[in-house]
Amino acid sequence: MYRRLQAANPHPTTELEHKTPFELLVAVMLSAHTTDKSVNTATRLLFPVANTPQAILAMGVDGVKPYLKTVGLYNAKTKNLIELSRRIVEQHGGEVPHSREALEELPGVGRKTANIILNMVFGESTIAVDTHIFRVANRTGLAEGKNPRVVEDELNAVTPDAFKKNAHHWLLLHGRYVCTARLPACPRCIIADLCEYPHKTPPLDLPRSDAPIAHRKKSARAPVRAAAKKSAVRRRKG
Ligand code: SF4
Repeated sequence: MYRRLQAANPHPTTELEHKTPFELLVAVMLSAHTTDKSVNTATRLLFPVANTPQAILAMGVDGVKPYLKTVGLYNAKTKNLIELSRRIVEQHGGEVPHSREALEELPGVGRKTANIILNMVFGESTIAVDTHIFRVANRTGLAEGKNPRVVEDELNAVTPDAFKKNAHHWLLLHGRYVCTARLPACPRCIIADLCEYPHKTPPLDLPRSDAPIAHRKKSARAPVRAAAKKSAVRRRKG
């Protein structure tokens, strides 16, 4: 499975725009429960103005908040960002800390974010499990589990060392663009023959455009159209 994902994308990386470890930490923290696109929209404006914990801290909540309005839960995230910056300045000399415990003590930073930072900034073989990876791991049978922590432990157990560094990105991108939540694009999936999901999308279910969203909308509207047609017929008969 990993060999195929690697062949298709030899150098996967995050879609969150960043240039420094602190920018990456901020972007990942902001990305909880919102899209990478909305985070990039915000950080493209924020980072040119302030991209260090000292500069963010100096702006304060009122200074930072207008930049984060495109991001979901921006009120809480603004407060977390200010406190996170304060702790990095006061307790870690202004540098992103290199320890799981220290990272997870930062406001707004949980295990997933810590795993991403340990992996991408410090080169550790951690595998962060987000909603996409949780879905792909369970559907394929690669690493089954009822919660992200169980799936993470399973992934660590079954992923060969050579693939651990990039496993997070490969699985995440596969979940985001192919093995989507509502209608996985199984007919064009490069790991379909290795996947154990019993409800794969059959080829004929995909629209000509191969676009899951378009298909979903069409399917969702079909019962509405059928009901409208029946009602029109009844009206004509009446
Ligand atoms: S075959 Fe379908 S369910 Fe399995 S990984 Fe591919 S897209 Fe996901």
